[in-house]
Amino acid sequence: MATTLLETFLTRARQEPGRPVLDFEQQRFTAGQLAGHIAAFASALQRRGVKPGERVALFLENSPAFVISYLGTQYAGGVVVLVNTQYRLVELSHILSDAGARVCVTGAAGAAELAPLRPQLPSLEWLVTVEPPGAPVPWPVVDFDALLAEGDASASLPLPQGEQLAVLGYTSGTTGRSKGAMLLHRNLLANVRAVTEAWCWTESDRLLLTLPLFHTHGLMVGLHGTLYSGGSVDLRRRFAAPEVLAALREDASLTMFFGVPTMYGRLVEEARRTGVRPRPLRLLVSGSAPLSPQLFHDVEETFGQRILERYGMTETLMNTTNPYEGERRPGTVGMPYPGQEARVVDVRTRQPLPDGETGEIEVRGPHVFAGYWQRPDATAESFDPAGWFRTGDLGLRDADGYFHITGRARELIISGGFNVYPREVEEVLATHPGVAEAAVLGLPDPDFGEQVVAVIVPRAPAPEAQVLVDFCKDRLASFKKPRRVVFVEALPRNALGKVQKHVLRERLQSDTT
Ligand code: ATP
Ligand code: MG
Repeated sequence: MATTLLETFLTRARQEPGRPVLDFEQQRFTAGQLAGHIAAFASALQRRGVKPGERVALFLENSPAFVISYLGTQYAGGVVVLVNTQYRLVELSHILSDAGARVCVTGAAGAAELAPLRPQLPSLEWLVTVEPPGAPVPWPVVDFDALLAEGDASASLPLPQGEQLAVLGYTSGTTGRSKGAMLLHRNLLANVRAVTEAWCWTESDRLLLTLPLFHTHGLMVGLHGTLYSGGSVDLRRRFAAPEVLAALREDASLTMFFGVPTMYGRLVEEARRTGVRPRPLRLLVSGSAPLSPQLFHDVEETFGQRILERYGMTETLMNTTNPYEGERRPGTVGMPYPGQEARVVDVRTRQPLPDGETGEIEVRGPHVFAGYWQRPDATAESFDPAGWFRTGDLGLRDADGYFHITGRARELIISGGFNVYPREVEEVLATHPGVAEAAVLGLPDPDFGEQVVAVIVPRAPAPEAQVLVDFCKDRLASFKKPRRVVFVEALPRNALGKVQKHVLRERLQSDTT
């Protein structure tokens, strides 16, 4: 039996080389063609001296070149470093130097963005570019197609083993500086097996994939599932609601679509605006951020089917899923995937809690990563001696075994000894007509330990602070009401659209007014 996803794909490609696997714009790749490009890329990297365990960064938009570089690096025994394409100088310098990347595959814009970082990146030796850089860059540059031509498409190289490092997945940096999660080949294989089994994903499936490949959702669910199941993917450069709706209406071969809640929100809006009714698919999946029950119902009304919400993270890939057959419950993320475990523990005592009680979600199983790259402190803090990984997410398991996520452990506010879950207060504030967006966090308080602070993006006419405090007091226990209300023009968000509360906290603490 195969010990890596790469082996599974290459074996299938030898058996059925003519099977279509990837479409992108006007290009189509069969499994045999893709396998040939992967072998060419891998052998060229090796000829140029890249050794097993060395890091190759991908700072690249969705494209066949991404898929080839990703699998080609792994075939050469290298470790892929995933870099969000929206990252700029500060994030790039942190990730590429932290990972010690030796090579970076990128486009013209990426090369220009990297250029000023030459002094900060001593380990970076050369770039592979998928288009000619617009201006000279301070590294040797190899053209992507020229690199493939240097390699041997029929090369048969030693395959990486399950225990070897496959990917450094940098977390989104929602709660602080992003950390490199060390994902082993066996983690990737175990999780894709669990996901494809749970969702009955087969070679007859065809996925419309508009999520970015540099992130877990697009790559480790969308692409991996396709490669593992033997199905195919219609890969797009990026998400655009009108294009997705058109594809869903016209292309009867599509069976699946995956998205984040904001994408579904735009699809519903676009469908309502244009009256276009998408064709029902075998499976619609949402994840990466909470899907509100309202949006769950809007999607059901627009698409005529119930969305399946699942919960995952960079460190563990997919953790829980609503059932494929059986009830998909809005506001929940379902149960652990086959072969994986999840539980809820008290944040202070770390003891498992009974169903219905809120604590921190912990997970265990073959999908859980090997630790944070060069961060033994963060790794030690995140695991208990029995191998449970502390997800940092708060939630509960209900009496029927469905997990609910209620927020982040780091964001839990303890005010006067009472637990305040920011999301609960945010949800109340969001229902006030004068509030466009709300973020709630705890700041140090001499009497209460922490005080509840609400940061509000107002909608005209902006309400008085006291009006919002009273609004919360009428709807929640008094200890949950904000003690301070701050109005801002916009909330700081990271590249995936998640609100960065640590940035807000720093701003508010340095703000003495
Ligand atoms: P960092 O770890 O750097 O602070 P991050 O946790 O946002 O950033 P990711 O690994 O990209 O980085 O995101 C995983 C997180 O996304 C989960 O821990 C969880 O908080 C959230 N998440 C994922 N799926 C869901 C979901 N279905 N519902 C609610 N939250 C979700
Ligand atoms: Mg995280």
